[in-house]
Amino acid sequence: MKLSKGFIPTLKEVPTEAVIPSHVLMIRSGMVRQVSAGIYSFLPLGYKVIKKITEIIREEMNAIGGQEFHLPALNPIEIWEETGRVEAFGDTLFHIKNRDYVLAPTHEEIMTFHARGVLKSYKDLPQIWYQIQTKFRNEPRPRSGVIRGRQFLMKDAYTFDVDTDALDISYELHDKAYRKIFDRCGINYFVVGASSGAMGGSKSEEFMVKSDAGEDTVAYCESCGYAANIEVAESVVDGAVRHYESKEVYEIHTPNVKSIDELCEFLKIDEEETAKSRIYIHDGNPVLILMQGNNEVNESKLEGILGGTVRPGHKEELKDITGADAGSIGPVGFKYRILADIKLKDANNLYSGANKNDYHIGGIDLKRDVPSVEYFDLRVIETGEKCARCGNSLEVFKAIELGHIFKLGTKYSESLGANYLDEDGKAHPIVMGSYGIGVERVLACYLEQNYDDNGIIWDNNLAPYQFHLMGLNMKVDEIIDACGKIYNDLTAKGFEVLFDDRNNVQAGFKFNDADLLGMPVQIIVGGKGLKENSVEVKVRRTGERMKVSLDNLYEELEKLV
Ligand code: ATP
Ligand code: MG
Repeated sequence: MKLSKGFIPTLKEVPTEAVIPSHVLMIRSGMVRQVSAGIYSFLPLGYKVIKKITEIIREEMNAIGGQEFHLPALNPIEIWEETGRVEAFGDTLFHIKNRDYVLAPTHEEIMTFHARGVLKSYKDLPQIWYQIQTKFRNEPRPRSGVIRGRQFLMKDAYTFDVDTDALDISYELHDKAYRKIFDRCGINYFVVGASSGAMGGSKSEEFMVKSDAGEDTVAYCESCGYAANIEVAESVVDGAVRHYESKEVYEIHTPNVKSIDELCEFLKIDEEETAKSRIYIHDGNPVLILMQGNNEVNESKLEGILGGTVRPGHKEELKDITGADAGSIGPVGFKYRILADIKLKDANNLYSGANKNDYHIGGIDLKRDVPSVEYFDLRVIETGEKCARCGNSLEVFKAIELGHIFKLGTKYSESLGANYLDEDGKAHPIVMGSYGIGVERVLACYLEQNYDDNGIIWDNNLAPYQFHLMGLNMKVDEIIDACGKIYNDLTAKGFEVLFDDRNNVQAGFKFNDADLLGMPVQIIVGGKGLKENSVEVKVRRTGERMKVSLDNLYEELEKLV
């Protein structure tokens, strides 16, 4: 492609809306432009990379026997009502005004619709069906460029099996294919155990990239390799100390003391001696969650324990439920269900709210004063806690989710009536799996891991062009001719070449653009070199430069890509 004719609008300045490296680089290199919040256009250079990624995905999906579909993004709402997911997705689902359609955020419903009545017999199974298609989600906070968009490209695959053993095989196939896909894309990733959440199902794992731009938090153990999404991560912690003697419960006037920190300051006590109360609503009923000190409630774990979804109590409801506002709530005398974090098991001499504004109570013995309390692992774990598997220190950090593999089970086949007949003619719901990859996220994560101060660093597999050819002074005939020949020869050999043939741009500007765009190998053609029958070749990743004779140029270049 000749730059003089191509549309690659590079920018020198960092765009203000972009903060993370991948977003900055995608805009500066002319790969994308934002249309509105969470909605991006891919320009030719960016779309070229998207096509490379989808081709890798396609090859690996086909290699495990996947068959490619193309489903409609526009879906009749009825089928989403059948599975109860209009409600489950809530505001994230895009509705078409005045028509009973939704824009699909994923395709379990439509795939199961096609399986229903068609995959009739055990002989028709297993099946692996996939597509690479646009998804729509009304994300409340689109951010980090294409990493969280309202419209994005997903590879979504669905498997149909006779039973859970067969599903295990389909799941393993996807696990292996995903590893190959991300390896081929040159991404440094790791796999974590994840929550199956509102999707239903048993096992689920996420493919993650460590990044401060991530919205997921994971716990990772360097010594044994244990990795889990914080939503489900487990750790070993020291429980609260049970003192030999329990004090009597006594009320303390604590004017304007709202937080645990303020309480500790006011009473000159340690955080470990306090218990924080949070009110949640589950199925319309209040539940008090008791945590040690400032430990945070892990809502995913809580939902796992209670079943279904929970929400924090609203400010306005707290007084009716407890008799006090936030900051003065406590377990003693609380009339509804109480769950406490396992760290507080049988603790005594605790301080907590009195369910009366501006009052706390001390001397709480959970065994004696809150006998109905139930203990569970409810904490959001933190860096430094001990790995539940090997006892070494866990690290907690942010990560971006690239892909997700999921044992769905029979949730969708049951709600949509997709059954098959076994050898004895008995009907069973088909056992399903679902497997997603965010295509734009693959691109963004690659960039997050492959750049320097000057710009992008492409590896061959994803590079939009393998070679970046520059004619330094495109007003000189010898340079024009030499470049033209190299361009034609490389193109004829099947390589993709970006040719900076602009004759109105200074050499320095061309060098900067070449480094910003980041093709693996740069070929620099100048008058001085040509006099010696040579050109300069630069490897983008290492910065290594070499003088290469035109006589063996192609052998040398082929060695590099
Ligand atoms: P997240 O927790 O980041 O919202 P998710 O759990 O909703 O992701 P899935 O429903 O499992 O994601 O979708 C499969 C894949 O699609 C994800 O692993 C991710 O790579 C990608 N993806 C999901 N939401 C978005 C989005 N808003 N923009 C871009 N890619 C997305
Ligand atoms: Mg999501």
